Amino acid sequence: MTIPAPLAVPERKEKSAPQKAMEKLGLVRDIDLALHLPLRYEDETRIVPISSLRDGDTAQVEGTVRDCQVQLRSRRQLVVRLGDDSRDELVLRFLNFYPSHQKALAPGKRVRVRGDARGGFFGLEMVHPTFKNVDEDTPLATALTPVYPTSAALPQAYLRKAVASGVKHADLSDIVPPELVPKGMTSLRESLQFLHHPTPDVSMAELEDKSHPAWQRLKFEELLAQQLSQLQSRRERDLQRAPRFDINPDGLQEKLLAALPFSLTTAQRRVVEEIGGDLQKEMPMHRLLQGDVGSGKTVVAALAAAIAIEAGWQCALMAPTEILAEQHFRKLIDWLTPLGIDMAWLTGSRKGKGRREMLGKVASGEAKLVVGTHAVIQDEVEFAKLGLAIIDEQHRFGVQQRLALRGKLATQALEPHMLMMSATPIPRTLAMTLFADLDISTIDELPPGRTPIVTKVFADGKRDAVIARIRDEVEQGRQVYWVCPLIEESEHMDLQNATATHAQLCEALPGHMVGLLHGRMPAAEKAAVMSLFSGGQMAVLVSTTVIEVGVDVPNASLMVIEHAERFGLSQLHQLRGRVGRGSVASVCVLLYSGPLSYTGKSRLKAMAETTDGFEIARRDLDIRGPGEFFGARQSGAPLLRFAELTLDEHLVKSARDAAQQMLDKLPQAAERHVARWLGGRAEYLKA
Ligand code: ADP
Ligand code: MG
Repeated sequence: MTIPAPLAVPERKEKSAPQKAMEKLGLVRDIDLALHLPLRYEDETRIVPISSLRDGDTAQVEGTVRDCQVQLRSRRQLVVRLGDDSRDELVLRFLNFYPSHQKALAPGKRVRVRGDARGGFFGLEMVHPTFKNVDEDTPLATALTPVYPTSAALPQAYLRKAVASGVKHADLSDIVPPELVPKGMTSLRESLQFLHHPTPDVSMAELEDKSHPAWQRLKFEELLAQQLSQLQSRRERDLQRAPRFDINPDGLQEKLLAALPFSLTTAQRRVVEEIGGDLQKEMPMHRLLQGDVGSGKTVVAALAAAIAIEAGWQCALMAPTEILAEQHFRKLIDWLTPLGIDMAWLTGSRKGKGRREMLGKVASGEAKLVVGTHAVIQDEVEFAKLGLAIIDEQHRFGVQQRLALRGKLATQALEPHMLMMSATPIPRTLAMTLFADLDISTIDELPPGRTPIVTKVFADGKRDAVIARIRDEVEQGRQVYWVCPLIEESEHMDLQNATATHAQLCEALPGHMVGLLHGRMPAAEKAAVMSLFSGGQMAVLVSTTVIEVGVDVPNASLMVIEHAERFGLSQLHQLRGRVGRGSVASVCVLLYSGPLSYTGKSRLKAMAETTDGFEIARRDLDIRGPGEFFGARQSGAPLLRFAELTLDEHLVKSARDAAQQMLDKLPQAAERHVARWLGGRAEYLKA
C-alpha cells in the first residue's frame, strides 16, 4: 500500500509583532495606512530657549550637557543638567535608563530634547524626555510630527514609517467627482498629505477640533462611504421579494380595533398606516418604530401581526427578556385569542415535551403568532410561513440576531417583513447615519389621561424619608417599585444588595406584601411574583433590572431607583416609564451614593429636568457619544473614526445627497469609494 506524499506546505514567513499589531488595527493595505490619521502632533520645527520654558509646556529644547549623575533617591535614577545659550538650566530625569543613556548624555554632548516641562524641586525638569544627539547644524523638522493612534506592540516610530510608505504608494486620486464635494475642501491627496505633515504655521485649534478644511474633506469622505454602503444595501434589499399582504377592510385588524378597550391615538393611527402601506408592497419592510416608553407600541405590533395573519402568514415577536416576552404574550393572548388566532410561546427555559409541541405547531403553521425571547431564532425552530418578524427593544439585540431572524423564512424565496421597535428614540442625525437603510415611524404622543411623573433626586442618606413615603403610597392602596442596580461583575453582590433592601422594606412595612425579583430566579418563580404584583396583591416589588422594559402595572405610582448613578440615562428613563401609566400622579425617586462623577451628575440632572424621551436621547448622545449610545458593535459607529455625528450634521447631509447621486450615476466609482474606505468591512454594515 502506498501512502500519498504529504502536500508540500509553502513556507510562510512569520509576521513580526508590529506587523501583527498593525493588522489588528485594520492597517493592511497602503490605503488603510494612508487613512490612518494622527491623533495629535509634536512640534519639532522649533527650539525653545530654556529660559522661556514654563511649567506645563510641551516643548523642544537644545543644549549641552553640563552634568550627568546616577543618583540614589527613593530609587536609582539618572539626573542630567542641560544648559543652553539662554544660560538657564533644565534637569532631565530618567527612572529607567541604560548605559547607552549615560553615554549619549555625557557632559559636553549636544542634545535635542523633547518633553513636558514640570516645575520640580530643583527648578524646571523633564521626566523621561525623548532626546537625540545633534550637531550644531542638524536641521530641524519642517513639518509637525504626527503622533498616530497605536497599540502597545506597535512602536510609534515603526508606524510613522509604515504610514509614510502607505501615503507614498497608495492611490490617493479623487474618486468623488468635484461637483459632489462641498465647497472649500482640498483634494483628498492634498488633505491627506497635509494632515500627516502639517506645516508649522497651521492653527493648532483647527487641527484639534477637526474644523480645518483638510479634516472636513476626510470626514466627508468617510461619511460618504458609510452612506453609500447603507444605501447600497437598501437598494439590494429593495430588489428582494417579500409576501404582499392585502388589507381586508373587515379583516382581523378591524376586528381587533373594534375589540380594544381604547381608541388609538392619532400618532398610533399614523404609524399603523405607514406599516400597513409597507406590508402591501412586495419589497421587504425594514421599519423602525420608535416611541417613548408607554406610548403604546405593543398594540401597533398586534395590528401589524393581524394584517400578516389575515393574509395567511405567520408572525414572530421577539423580546429581549423572558419577563418582557411573557408580558407581551399575555397581552396579545387577551387581544388575539378571542379573534381565533393561535399563539405559541417559546423561550430558552421552556424545555421537553411542551417545547416539542410548540415547535411542532410553529413548523406546521398552526401557530400564527409566535412570541418569545431570542429562543425564537434558534436553529431548531422552523416556521412554515414566516411573513412578519417584530423585534421589541431592537437596540438590545445584536446585528447577528437580527440577521438570523431574517434568514428564518425559507418560503418561496421570500424575505419576511421586519418591524423593529425601540423606546430609545434616535436623534435625527444619528438615524440618518446609522440607520440610513431603515424607514422610521415615530409615535410622538402618549395615550391620553397620563399624569406627568415628578422626578426627585436624593442622596442615599434620605432613605428613611423615602421609605416613609412608600408607606403612604401603599396605605392608599397604590403600588411601588424599588429597583436595585445590576453590578455587572458580580451577580452575587447584586443579589445581596436586592436581598438586603427587600429585608429592610419587609420590616418597615408590616402588613404589606413585599416581593423580590431577580435574574437568577427560576422562570416559574419570577412569573409567580410578577403575577402577584400585576394582580395588585403585592404592594412593593424589589427588583434588579429584570423589570427594565415593558412591565405594565398602571396602579404603580412610585418608583425608587437605588444607586441611580450606576445606571445609564436611557435605562433610567425606561425604568421611570414603569410608573405614570395610570391616572394617579406618580413619582420617581433617584437615590444616589456620592460622590458623583461629572457624567453621573449630568445623567441625574437630565432625569430631573425632563420626561421627554427624545430630549433624554439627545442628552444621552451628548454625554456618551454615539459609539456607546447603541453599544459599539451594533451601532456601526466604530466605522466612523473622524466624523462626529453631533457636530457634523451638515456633512452628513452633503454625504447623503452625494451618495444618492453617485449610486445613480456613477455606480462603479461608488463601489471603489466604499472599497477604499471600508475594505472588508462593508458586509458588516449591511446588517
Ligand atoms: P410601550 O410603547 O412602552 O411598549 P405599551 O404598548 O406597553 O407601551 O403601552 C402602554 C400602556 O398603554 C398599555 O397598558 C397599553 O394597553 C396602553 N395603551 C396603548 N395605546 C393606548 C391608547 N391609544 N389609549 C389608551 N391606552 C393605550
Ligand atoms: Mg413595550
